[in-house]
Amino acid sequence: MQEKNVQGKKKQEKKVQGNKSQENRIQGKRVQEGKKQGSPKRENKRPESRAVKGVKPEQKQRTEQKQKAAKFGKPVLKQQSGQNVEKGKKNAKKSMCPVMRQCGGCQMLDMPYAEQLKTKRKRLETLLKGICPVKDMIGMEDPFYYRNKVHAVFDRDRRGNIISGIYQENTHNVVPVEKCMIEDQKADEIIGTIRGMLKSFKIRTFDEDTGYGLLRHVLIRRGFESGEIMVVLVTASPVFPSKNNFVKALREKHPEITTIVQNINGRGTSMVLGEKEHVLYGKGYIVDTLCGCSFRISSRSFYQVNPVQTEKLYTKALELAGLTGKETVVDAYCGIGTIGIIASKKAGNVIGVELNQDAVRDAINNAKMNQISNIHFFCNDAGRFLVNMAEAGEKADVVIMDPPRSGSTEEFMDSIAKMGAKKVVYVSCNPETLARDLAYMKKLGYKAKEAVGFDMFPATEHVETICSLTRIK
Ligand code: SAH
Repeated sequence: MQEKNVQGKKKQEKKVQGNKSQENRIQGKRVQEGKKQGSPKRENKRPESRAVKGVKPEQKQRTEQKQKAAKFGKPVLKQQSGQNVEKGKKNAKKSMCPVMRQCGGCQMLDMPYAEQLKTKRKRLETLLKGICPVKDMIGMEDPFYYRNKVHAVFDRDRRGNIISGIYQENTHNVVPVEKCMIEDQKADEIIGTIRGMLKSFKIRTFDEDTGYGLLRHVLIRRGFESGEIMVVLVTASPVFPSKNNFVKALREKHPEITTIVQNINGRGTSMVLGEKEHVLYGKGYIVDTLCGCSFRISSRSFYQVNPVQTEKLYTKALELAGLTGKETVVDAYCGIGTIGIIASKKAGNVIGVELNQDAVRDAINNAKMNQISNIHFFCNDAGRFLVNMAEAGEKADVVIMDPPRSGSTEEFMDSIAKMGAKKVVYVSCNPETLARDLAYMKKLGYKAKEAVGFDMFPATEHVETICSLTRIK
């Protein structure tokens, strides 16, 4: 998300995982369960979460912008009526969402859905012209309220009222949001409850300019099949007065919450999550089911935000991989191991590689939970890992790759060729870098057969694509 993604938030989250320090990376060593592998590291840059577009985190800029910002100080009252609470805004009046323009995340919200799909397909066709044919986009039956991960930033408006919502594009001003057309409705309800509880618990929202206050963000993840709900309270300091009572009261109002985590982020950056966490209630993660497998998802691991479409996407990825039960498969940029674990049932063995240590830990647990023994995970940079594999003379039959928005690297793709992989399945969240990488793969002797877009992010301009490649020389 350079992250225009579902706007305001993703960029931040991605950065959540974004400590670029390389020192702690495991150099291709197998990760033992429970062994600490250094910190997670690098921008994830997927459009799965809403991001602040172009935000510069400098304090000064924030202060100036806040001063200019007062116009968005009123909570949004209605979302679906088609009427804007703020009068006199021509465009906003027509929109399904009263804060569409300030938020900037749902660039296509008011376009008929069939047209959204056509527009995305066209873009894909333009970018992949001369590379491979593009099939019709696979859309959703109901393209609303699909995000199972919801993030809200907390603040106060000019009059001191507690608000929560998203950052206005390119700023640190908070646009109050009570309901969002693409977010899980239960998650929005819980965020509303938390907003309403803060005053009586004397919990202050964090002020980025003064550094005072406690609550910065709330992040909610909901298991689509399991219904499990994780609430992450991001606080500026570890000291959380009356936290037990707060947790108790929140659970009374929402008994459906299965775990509550306090994440401490004392940094003056625009990242959402800090490195430290305390589990306040429950097991500290949720479990969800996808394509018949169970997955453990913790607060900082990547997990696709649109479960309905993810099932379709993964099913297609496996179909294109065409596994017979004998192959050695590499699942690169594997996150919590979803694709590889699903593929392992039809493969000889699977090697998963992922840079984020929390995700790798989840992946290892996920393999165990699903009683899968022919998959192994490594915490490393995918490019470096593949170079090591190729240099060691190891072979792979099929490579499934699902890189972040920045795409893959030449060293990664060179190594695919060096290892002699016959088939590559490329899952992409950024058609521009996909086109670039496919052109490079062509030079290496890999022909792209077809590309199919999956609408993982209705109402936004983001396009997820799967493309299969076969080795022709
Ligand atoms: N395949 C997974 C995750 C895809 S998201 C799924 O479908 O859920 C992309 C993943 O790439 C993220 O988990 C991110 O942490 C990881 N990543 C980003 N840069 C990487 C790199 N250089 N090497 C390995 N993994 C990387």
